[in-house]
Formats: sequence, C-alpha cells, structure tokens
Amino acid sequence: MTDQVLRGRVLTFFDHPTSLADTDSFGYWEDGAIAVLGGKIDWRGHFSELPERYNALPVTDHRPRLILPGLIDTHAHFAQMGVIGSYGAQLLDWLEQYTFVQETRFDCDDHSGLIASSYFDELILNGVTTSVVYGTSHKNSMDAFFAEADQRQLCMIAGKTLMDRNAPDDLRDTAQSGYDDSKALIERWHGKGRLKYAVTPRFAISCSEAQLELAGTLLKETPDAYLQTHLSENQIEIETTAALFPAARDYLDVYEHYGFLGEKSLFGHCIHLTERERAAMKDSRSVAVFCPTSNLFLGSGLFDYAGMSDEGIRISLASDVGAGTSYSMLTTASEAYKVCQLNHYGLNPLESFYLMTLGNARALSLDHDIGTIEAGTSADLIVLNSIATSAMNIRMEAADSLTDELFILQTLGDDRAISATYVAGNRFK
Ligand SMILES: [Zn+2]
Repeated sequence: MTDQVLRGRVLTFFDHPTSLADTDSFGYWEDGAIAVLGGKIDWRGHFSELPERYNALPVTDHRPRLILPGLIDTHAHFAQMGVIGSYGAQLLDWLEQYTFVQETRFDCDDHSGLIASSYFDELILNGVTTSVVYGTSHKNSMDAFFAEADQRQLCMIAGKTLMDRNAPDDLRDTAQSGYDDSKALIERWHGKGRLKYAVTPRFAISCSEAQLELAGTLLKETPDAYLQTHLSENQIEIETTAALFPAARDYLDVYEHYGFLGEKSLFGHCIHLTERERAAMKDSRSVAVFCPTSNLFLGSGLFDYAGMSDEGIRISLASDVGAGTSYSMLTTASEAYKVCQLNHYGLNPLESFYLMTLGNARALSLDHDIGTIEAGTSADLIVLNSIATSAMNIRMEAADSLTDELFILQTLGDDRAISATYVAGNRFK
C-alpha cells in the first residue's frame, strides 16, 4: 500500500537556477506535504493546506528533514562494481587491465543477477532512483538487470554494450549478433513497466563500421530508444579513433555519420571537443554527460561545464561508476564543483541539486515522470538528513540558509545523509 502523505521540508525545482538568488527556479515548503496515490504524486503544498480528501491517509512525518525528488544518474556501468577504485591506469589501460577482465564474468546468469541486485541496493542507499546504465556485451547480463529493475519498479534506462573489435575474444559480439541481441532485448524490455532501452555502442574504438551501421538501424527501428556511448574522454582514445576512422572530420563525426546524434543521445565525457563538435552537439540537442569523479580518477581532463552551458549544449551529471569512484550523486556534485573551480566557475548548490533532479530528468526527456515533485509524476522521492554525521552536525550549526544547507549536504554528505528512498511510493530505505 503506497497511498500515504509524506510530511517534511519539501524542495523541488521548476527551472535551471541562474544564480543563488534565483528563488523563482524552485519551490520550497518549510512544512510541506506530498500526497501519494497509486505510486504517483497526487498533490503537494503546505501541510496546513492539505485537502480533506487525503485525511484518511497515513502520514509519515519526516520533519525536519528535506524531501526531494529521487536523484538521477545519467551514466554508469553496473558490471564494473567489482573494479571500482582500481589503481594506476588511464582510460585504455584501465579498460584492458581491469574492466574487460571483470566484464567477462557476466556471461553467467547468477553472477549478472547478483551484481544487478547489489547495484540497485547501492543506488537505493544513495537515493538514486533512476540510472542510465551500460551492461556488458552479454545479452543475459541485461536480462538479469532489467528483470531485477522491473521487480523493484525502478525507472531505468540501459543497454547491452556493442563491441565487436579491440576487446578480448569472450567479450566480443559480432555486428549481426550485437544487432540481434539488442533487438531481442528491446522487444522484451523497452517500455515494459518503467524500463527503457539505450542502444549502446561502447565507443568507436570497440565497434566496426558494420556494427555502427547496425546500431544506427536499431535507432531508426526504435525511434523512442536512447543512444549512449563515450566521446572524447582521453587524448590517446581520440588519436586511436582518428586512426581507425580516417574519413571522419573528428570523433563526433564518426557517430554523426551513423545517425547517432539527437535529443535522446547521451555522450559520456565530451572533455576535449573541438568547436565543430560543440556546435554539432548543440544543434542536434544531444546531451554531454559530465562525469567528474571518473574524469579526475582517470586523469582524463576537466569538463568545460560553464563554456558548454553558455553555448547552449544540453548537459547532464553522472557518476560513471566504476571509473567514477562514488555511487553517491551528492559526492558526484561535490566533485563537479571542484572541477568547475579549476575552470574558474562557481557551480552553485541550487544548480547542483537542479542537475541531480530536474536537470537530469530533462536531459533524459523524462521530466513528465521523474526529477520533480508535481502532481501526476511518479513518487520517486528521497529524504535528506543534513545532520547525518557529527561533522555535518557541527557544520550545520553555522548554516544560515537553505542554499548553505544544500552545499553542506553535497560537500559532506553521502549515503548516510539519505534517510529514506521511495520508489513509486514504496519505501526501500
Ligand atoms: Zn562510461
């Protein structure tokens, strides 16, 4: 039974905050209420104005905690749980030494199911209710992933990675088998419950031209599917791609050629884009995915958040677990702040919390369902505790505003600051 009223300090965003003073960009109810019916938000506002029709519902009182929309991660690799925090490599060596070795284990249904389940447990602990996920090249890894997500009623976007070259034998598919397996997964899972499929060529280096061509075919055949891949993360990766695709104008052009650009296309990293690539990202409304902990961990470079934002490129925020080093979107936002500092831009906490919620929902074209607390959207909600640790408690004594509190949450908070996670109205933490 999910029908209930949640009471607490309710915060939701309406638009991208332009500054710390932009109070029109969000709604905040100091003593707020959210009425949940059938897994959806039916009403929200001041508790004192709760309509009588909800009087019979049980009330869970979370005061003085903050209630926000569930957090959204727009790029992660669930199969890399076993290699997160592996020492001493940059992108291509990291893939070879750690990632590919780990991913070969996902040929096994039991292992895939176990890790999928552990991954969702970790997301719930961290208040992440939607994630955009790369599987491995094995079809069964995605069957296990989607089955587990469906059982938990989670809104998840994911796909089997396509990789038919430059990878170990037991991870390589073929252009045709990659197409066939993706097609079967789309038919089985895309649109089932809250699940959506992302066509997932790992990156240009690991895909033949035949495979990229068939990935483009999958997108044409399933126009509402997503596309996710990696782009311009590391200099050696860029040079290797140029050598493999001598006819392409630049890295993005490889993807452009196969029809990958568009508003449901998510390009992970985008650190070293040329002017032409940036213009093409903007014109196609493609999304550049900012993965700060990963970019710092692999020494890939600093994402130009302010520059790309100013140019009108759509941007989302993501963990990129397991090259990313934290499942926490709070920690991810904290590292995003530091990357922006190094680029001489002060990413303010309103903007960070917007990105983790409505901003990422917009990047996924899912703001009609997630990332917000509006009537008719799914009751994916989290409760944040700003005094979860003694260090936070001490710092909170000096907090003088909501924005200060949000900044403390992102800087000092982690899974301990998430006191509750609701998915479609069901409490999982
Ligand atoms: Zn990645």
